[in-house]
Amino acid sequence: MTTPITQKQRLLILDDDPLVGCTIQFIAEDVGLETRFTSTPEDFFEILESWKPTHIALDLIMPAMDGVEVMKHLAREACGARLIITSGVGSRVLDAAGRSAAERGLDILGVLSKPFSAGDLRRLLLTEAPRSTPPPRPTPSAVGFEISESDIRLALENREFIVVYQPKIDCSSGSLAGFEGLVRWIHPDYGPISPDRFIPLAEASGLIDELTEQVIEESLGWFAPLCRPSGSGRTAGVRPEIVDGLSLSINISAKTLNDVRFVDRLEMHCMGRGLAPERLIFELTETSAMDDPVASLALLTRLRVKGFHLSIDDFGTGFSSMLQLVRLPFSEVKVDKSFVMTAMQSEESRTVVKSIVDLGHSLDLRTVAEGVESAEALAYLAEIGCSLAQGFHIARPMSGEATLKWIDERHGVH
Ligand code: C2E
Ligand code: CA
Ligand code: CA
Repeated sequence: MTTPITQKQRLLILDDDPLVGCTIQFIAEDVGLETRFTSTPEDFFEILESWKPTHIALDLIMPAMDGVEVMKHLAREACGARLIITSGVGSRVLDAAGRSAAERGLDILGVLSKPFSAGDLRRLLLTEAPRSTPPPRPTPSAVGFEISESDIRLALENREFIVVYQPKIDCSSGSLAGFEGLVRWIHPDYGPISPDRFIPLAEASGLIDELTEQVIEESLGWFAPLCRPSGSGRTAGVRPEIVDGLSLSINISAKTLNDVRFVDRLEMHCMGRGLAPERLIFELTETSAMDDPVASLALLTRLRVKGFHLSIDDFGTGFSSMLQLVRLPFSEVKVDKSFVMTAMQSEESRTVVKSIVDLGHSLDLRTVAEGVESAEALAYLAEIGCSLAQGFHIARPMSGEATLKWIDERHGVH
């Protein structure tokens, strides 16, 4: 998909080879961008500050400071410009650099292996590429906020944790399949704080079980009325055939696998709300399932016996992926977003995604890809037979209320 460049975009080029720099400049100006070129990192950062480019073309290998270092600086400054990485190193190294930049929250437009043709660069500059949106930037005050155990304890008492929901859809039909519940801490002074900042501490300080309990209570309180077939207490406005078979995924920590009463409490929650256990999927990261293999096997088996589903999260990033997948009673495998997000730029990532999807099929598991950020990625997943997709291209995580509105807008009300 190519679009004409409408408002003036600004491309800043950093390359130690003036000839390459000038060539990029020439091509970019030809498609309507304003350009600046420099061959030194010092000038680059100065121009970056004063000129605020919308695009950056960056050479990976330079004598003074390599491109990876430059990207580190850009990430630290939360640079929002779209990045094109160029280099004569092999495509695997380039791909790795692209992934590393995306993981740092930078917006990667593409990677170009030198020598590249004018057409390659022109296509990139004219492509309406999906913005690989960096995570919402925390407010400056929240960044410096040192979270302590007592802060979390107080937040639990004050019920400051909320759950947001991200939809999952069927890759080929596009129909809604379910949601993943993701916790947020709405701090009274600092605003929303992302789970990566407090889950590890909650786990280390023994507060994770209580946090999980609050997440389950809140998300079931939202989800159960949505699933109710008819009559009292059903969420109004959503057509029953849409909610048929919808599932809710909840993340659980490895520590929870030591809590022997977890399964019983869960069953009570479901019974109390008239929710079938088959509607719930518990997501576990593969490394976390390793901590205590004997206890995890027992608890996870009990969960499955009761009818709950189990998903192995972030698959492909741990060390014993295959072993975990075969040994523990999972019903779903979730391809890690780092591969899915880069699948359209990297052949290597596509190979990983496809291998995991194939593996899932041969083990009779449902396959889910998360981090789907473009229509192209979704089409690719459908083509290789991945069952479900989740990601910013479909929807961002939303509050319970906004999710209901999203369902209405997508499927209409009765
Ligand atoms: P996760 O389970 O892998 O969750 C997916 C993360 O990817 C979420 O980040 C989500 O917002 C983000 N994401 C979804 N689609 C896209 C996309 O297209 N592009 C990009 N760049 N990102 C996408 P979030 O909400 O910050 O959660 C981070 C992690 O925190 C989760 O990773 C999960 O491991 C943990 N977590 C979240 N909620 C809970 C919870 O209730 N309990 C526990 N134990 N852990 C939780
Ligand atoms: Ca998850
Ligand atoms: Ca994940």
